[in-house]
Amino acid sequence: MAKSASKTTYCSFCGRPNHLVERMIAGPDGVNICNECIETCAQLLGGAGISHQTSKDQPGIPAAETKLTVEEKSQEEDSQPFKLIPPAQIQRVLDAYVIGQEQAKKVLSVAVYNHYKRLNAKLHGEQVPEQFGDDLNDVEVEKSNILLLGPTGSGKTLLARTLARTLDVPFAIADATSLTEAGYVGEDVETIVLRLLQAADFNVKRAETGIIYIDEIDKLALKGDSPHVSRNLGQGVQHALLKIIEGTVCNVPPQGGRKHPEQQYIQVDTSNILFICGGAFVGLDEIVGRRIGNRFLGFDTSASAAGEPLTAEQIMANLQPEDLFNFGLIPEFVGRLPVVSVLSELTQQELESVLLNTRNSLTKQYRKLLAMEGVKLTFTPDGISAIAKKAIALKTGARGLRNILERLMLDTMYSLPQHPEAKEVILNAAVVSGTTPPIVKSQSSTASA
Ligand code: ADP
Repeated sequence: MAKSASKTTYCSFCGRPNHLVERMIAGPDGVNICNECIETCAQLLGGAGISHQTSKDQPGIPAAETKLTVEEKSQEEDSQPFKLIPPAQIQRVLDAYVIGQEQAKKVLSVAVYNHYKRLNAKLHGEQVPEQFGDDLNDVEVEKSNILLLGPTGSGKTLLARTLARTLDVPFAIADATSLTEAGYVGEDVETIVLRLLQAADFNVKRAETGIIYIDEIDKLALKGDSPHVSRNLGQGVQHALLKIIEGTVCNVPPQGGRKHPEQQYIQVDTSNILFICGGAFVGLDEIVGRRIGNRFLGFDTSASAAGEPLTAEQIMANLQPEDLFNFGLIPEFVGRLPVVSVLSELTQQELESVLLNTRNSLTKQYRKLLAMEGVKLTFTPDGISAIAKKAIALKTGARGLRNILERLMLDTMYSLPQHPEAKEVILNAAVVSGTTPPIVKSQSSTASA
């Protein structure tokens, strides 16, 4: 069925609405697929796609949609080379879930593509074509761990999570601030590998090719003004992480912690695990700005005559490893994260798009919750803009959107079950600003909740 002018339909695979694609084909039970996903599927069935591939596999489609059971992920499968999805296709899947951050998506897509190419050479002995010479087969491609810098709520974790789901590899998230060196109170760095092992259902081989996201990595920085204890701790954890990130065989306690000293350790080789580290790195733009010259920060009036002062994003485009050293990361640590990408703060328009257009967008989630009670939830365009503006004022990026919506919807969700006559709830700018309560319409009348 071609796209309909009256009703918005969504692709059941990538989540895009019909007005953003050329064709939308409808299947039974409300299932739709857009022309781009059909093309992707056709290419994948033709042989592209990342993940260990068997005839049952549907690589490239998020793992949630592929119904492989643990048993099906057999050892035979583990020994198959990774089939590679070209970076442009990885980016397209990311597009369905993550708004904006085009450069970061590109950098990540290329980095994971190369990572799994490297694994094919390393684990499965894939050779370069003969005409390029045998000497290249002896070259070892280094691991490309990734550092994502960007404000809170800009999509760092979401990107890492979506990548792992797209590639159908185990994924774990760790918070750098909860980690300590061995011997201190807190979690040993090995526990992050344990989480990956758990995500892989204790299939060590699968875990060894997974992805670990370490959040708040900037909090490990040695700050000149920090008390000594935390300085040393942060540095200690950076040192403890070095080996794991670079690649080592580590002893993972299957029950975690040190409470069970008698437990048998599981040995996990981390040399093929892709590490993505993320952090907000507040103040790093000033460090870069100072290095490239204060005039770029707009302090120097003579420079402003030469042009507009650079924005924080433009300044960050000049980021060099030495700026990260000056921020407080130790050089060895920075050296193990060779791929760096800077995410930008989401604009109002992007936040509106986060609300409306992603596959599991918040407005869709609340619409679904109310639809389950037979009530239509309508967000007016000015209501959407007002929510986005509020999130910008909170300075928590897209992270703040959920909180704003939860507050807006609380009273309505509390009282609706007692009003079976209610048929529609409308959220407009006045409701968002708090001047009126959400507008609740029943079949024949309009009333305020
Ligand atoms: P952080 O950059 O702090 O890691 P997250 O990725 O955890 O931010 O984002 C928090 C939430 O905000 C996500 O779960 C997602 O719903 C939303 N979000 C953040 N950035 C984006 C984005 N670029 N596109 C779509 N949703 C986003």
